[in-house]
Amino acid sequence: MGQLRIPGPTPCPPEVLQAMAGQMINHRGPEFGEMLQDITARLKQLFQTKNDLYLLTCSGTGGLEAAIVNTLSPGDRVLSVTVGVFGERFTGMAEEFGAEVIPLRFEYGQTADPDEIRRALQKEPEIKAVMVAHNETSTGVTNDLAAISAVVKEFDKLLLVDAISSMGSIDLPVDKWHCDVTVTASQKGWMVPPGLAMVSVSQEAWQAHARARMPRFNWDFARAQKYLEIGQTPWTPAVSIVFGLSVALDMMLKEGLSNIFARHARVGDAAREGVKSLGMSLFPDEKYASNTVTAVSVRDGMDVKEMLKILREEYQIVLAGGQQSLQGKIFRIGHLGLITEEDIKEIISALKEVLPRVSA
Ligand SMILES: *Cc1c(COP(=O)(O)O)cnc(C)c1O
Repeated sequence: MGQLRIPGPTPCPPEVLQAMAGQMINHRGPEFGEMLQDITARLKQLFQTKNDLYLLTCSGTGGLEAAIVNTLSPGDRVLSVTVGVFGERFTGMAEEFGAEVIPLRFEYGQTADPDEIRRALQKEPEIKAVMVAHNETSTGVTNDLAAISAVVKEFDKLLLVDAISSMGSIDLPVDKWHCDVTVTASQKGWMVPPGLAMVSVSQEAWQAHARARMPRFNWDFARAQKYLEIGQTPWTPAVSIVFGLSVALDMMLKEGLSNIFARHARVGDAAREGVKSLGMSLFPDEKYASNTVTAVSVRDGMDVKEMLKILREEYQIVLAGGQQSLQGKIFRIGHLGLITEEDIKEIISALKEVLPRVSA
């Protein structure tokens, strides 16, 4: 028993943990080179892309920063579509680097409306890029990225996607949906500890890169490309996490993309049905509810802090609270990566026992 069910870090399979216990190797030697080329090729399959793809040693936020500094210049106008805390982080980052950010905010619990994105792009023809989170982990919502992308590409804008909590768990065909930079991170659906971001880069993103003037060094895609050609990363990578990722990718490709997506859909359904069976409400509209994280509204008179504590101490089940303005208003069940419907059943049974103890 015992489950870590926050939306990252997520549990790792024993095979992955074992691989990570391996002795260090030369990160500029042939063994690492082969592994890096092989991982890159396999990640492209999972991203459903022929675009370039790089491993960066950082958490997801570093990958988002890379998306910004490699494609934009100070003063560039960007439309930042946000439906939650992570959308706000992406927005703030672009502002910090000097972009002129036009935020397009939707109420927490809602998805982004493609028609409003169209109106915003019509109003501001100077916009260079659109930034959006595919799956907003703070509210448990999945945006309709296919529809958003169609609008963004009507106007020929660059599309920068935070896919940190969706890629590898929820269908996101990068090439089909014309995502120019797509970012994910190892500790979410990949069943690997934190430490690596994975980023895909389209031809259009490379054209933007050639003109982009934001300062970049650690995150420079050109440096990543130059070194990948010789089977290396520009700087020392998180070698152990790379070992783990290699094994996790074997497992994922063996299961198959469509099976992985179907499993997350089943698990998401089980979580939503389970929560409702306890008389609780989902925070977002169920139509948009994410298959990687379920956000549950806290009822009046319910002590959510105590609930999380009892689950943690008596059941060894760790769930997540709400972030920022959502603190005390929701709690979240992370269900991405190494997860089955059985795991969800266990969580719902525990909640069933604990809820009466923390309700007024
Ligand atoms: C987890 C997450 C992030 C932040 O990733 P870090 O690895 O903590 O930097 C950003 N966006 C989304 C949607 C996430 O789920």
